Amino acid sequence: MLRFDELLDPEIIEPTDAIIAPIAATTCDLDHLLIAGKAPFQGPFPLGHECVGKVVKVGVACQKYSIGDIVGLAWHIACGTCVQCHKNYPANCKPHWNSQYGLPAKGDWGGTFSDLVRVPYADYNLAKIPEGVDPIHVASIGDNLALGWESVMPSINGIEDPEIVIFGGSKSIGLYCVDVAANCANANTIYYDHNIERLEIAEKLGAEVRDQLPKRGSGDFNLAIDASGKAEMLRLALTSVEPEGQVNSVGIYFEDVALPMFQLYLRGVNFHNGKGHARPNMEPVLEAVSKGILHPELVTSGVYEWDEMPEVLSSGAARKPVFRRM
Ligand SMILES: [Zn+2]
Ligand SMILES: [Zn+2]
Repeated sequence: MLRFDELLDPEIIEPTDAIIAPIAATTCDLDHLLIAGKAPFQGPFPLGHECVGKVVKVGVACQKYSIGDIVGLAWHIACGTCVQCHKNYPANCKPHWNSQYGLPAKGDWGGTFSDLVRVPYADYNLAKIPEGVDPIHVASIGDNLALGWESVMPSINGIEDPEIVIFGGSKSIGLYCVDVAANCANANTIYYDHNIERLEIAEKLGAEVRDQLPKRGSGDFNLAIDASGKAEMLRLALTSVEPEGQVNSVGIYFEDVALPMFQLYLRGVNFHNGKGHARPNMEPVLEAVSKGILHPELVTSGVYEWDEMPEVLSSGAARKPVFRRM
């Protein structure tokens, strides 16, 4: 069951903290599984880890932001200075591993579907929204949208005319990957899905779309992305790339999956699955949105008022709803 509860306002605790008031918040694809009881987390807990907010308080050591700034918030809690953060792996920040908003993880950080959110290490975990960018369009910047960039750009670095195949199924991440692949990587982008709405969006974003899965992986893509959460499509992604090609899976598999290990051995496949390291990927996405290169607004399924949140989310019908509180 989803509801708003009354809690005490969060306060500045450390001098590096800021407090933000979310003005546009949206669901991570994982939230739909949480709400439907299909993820192994027991409530009650504060929900939400994607938002753009307005800075309402800053600690004395917070140097980059001031009251009134409009900022995107990374979903993970990261110090910005440890060895993992320096490697651009803030989701695995050493002192704050497994700490985040909107899940019963390590620490009590609240959720972004709240009136106020305390942001530790605010200079690191916030990113300024550029002038002219509608906060509603980039409500997902702190997680799924940034993951679209992270899943594509570093993997095709140095490849001329990249060929990318994306196996869709997630409510938004696969589509953000399409947007980045087609419009930032300028890749020939093939998108598989069974869902007509998502196929239409992927086509608008610049992919060649297919509604029937191939019998086997073609073995000639530079990069395959599994955004399906389905073992069958993960296996297809793994056998779709050229020898020593890259496969990135953004799906969360709560159960073990059987993999075609001998085929992977013969081919040589580089496989990555893990949490998105949002923070370093937020600025390049925001820049591409402000230049009109990326179009995350096409992935948004509807814009709703803040108060409508429990009802809209409980219904399970909204694919990527954005809730506003201006
Ligand atoms: Zn998420
Ligand atoms: Zn760190």
